[in-house]
Amino acid sequence: MATNGKVKVIPCSGMGKVYGLMAREAALYTVNRLCPDQAATMCLAYIVTGDAEAEAGIAHRPCITIDGCPKMCAAKSVSAMGGDIQEEFKVLDIMKEHKGVQPGTATALTDEGWAIVEKVAGRLGSRVQEISGEGR
Ligand code: SF4
Repeated sequence: MATNGKVKVIPCSGMGKVYGLMAREAALYTVNRLCPDQAATMCLAYIVTGDAEAEAGIAHRPCITIDGCPKMCAAKSVSAMGGDIQEEFKVLDIMKEHKGVQPGTATALTDEGWAIVEKVAGRLGSRVQEISGEGR
């Protein structure tokens, strides 16, 4: 499946925040390890700057966003570019299921942090599979 036919899994940029790092790692885990044939990602900055190629890959195409905080930068940016957002994931929501866990820092995750990333990626991957199946 060409990149344009894949579900776009787009994390926020989240620099300087551990939840942003978790969003990025979960997106990469999903597109590189869980669903390489059905999903692809894209740099958020590419979208925010209004790049024509980014728009071609996103506008009216199925997208899943994952954000590190309530500002929802990925969801807002993908929506502004006309992406067909099928689901908006929030790392904060998932962390509520893991109260007291120390996931790491903005630059490095703990083993617990990686375990949560894998869990998030599992949910992203499940949605990718569902959306891909619907498109057949
Ligand atoms: S959603 Fe929050 S963590 Fe992510 S890029 Fe925006 S401000 Fe940063």
